[in-house]
Amino acid sequence: MKRICFATNNKNKIAEVSQMLEGKYELVSLEEIGCTEELPEEHDTMKANSHQKAAYVWQKYNINCFADDSGLEVDALGGAPGVYSARYAGPQRSDSDNINLLLQNLEGNENRKANFRTSITLILNGQEHQFEGTVDGSITTAWKGNKGFGYDPVFVPAGYEQTFAEMSSEQKNAISHRGRAVRKLVDFLKTQG
Ligand code: IMP
Repeated sequence: MKRICFATNNKNKIAEVSQMLEGKYELVSLEEIGCTEELPEEHDTMKANSHQKAAYVWQKYNINCFADDSGLEVDALGGAPGVYSARYAGPQRSDSDNINLLLQNLEGNENRKANFRTSITLILNGQEHQFEGTVDGSITTAWKGNKGFGYDPVFVPAGYEQTFAEMSSEQKNAISHRGRAVRKLVDFLKTQG
């Protein structure tokens, strides 16, 4: 079976993509290829960051790989927090601090439009391929739900009444930015001999 590195140590992400690949590839984590250092992500777009992480793994470990980068883009904040989503309220990377700051920065603002975006860069035999997934929605004025992670309790996808944090993971994956980008990646990988 062909081995491919998913440039993450998040076991949930690896299990989910492995299952979607239906045994066509063996997915390995960063830890499993001996990469224990933090990957560089120094750019201001998700596309450039996913590229930087995948290129680092390909160049240093010489293994086919893909990397993802996601974030929340809020219209009234000029696209912030974007690539800084994880550390919006500071280096402690606290989901609750991030949400509180977001709600504070949007207080009194009627424009609640936002979207999540995921960019995936795949490097397969030295060739680079990009996949993107987005989901439009809006930011609530208060927290709702306790599932998921990150900004899920304050994001309602367009056409729905519930926040991501009130949905099951299956419901969320069916419409989420990450689910959409990953399905594009998986469809592509399945076409590769
Ligand atoms: P990552 O690139 O997948 O690590 O995502 C970076 C950050 O974006 C996370 O730490 C969250 O703050 C935010 N984020 C990304 N995807 C989601 C999501 O599906 N729900 C809520 N927050 C998310």
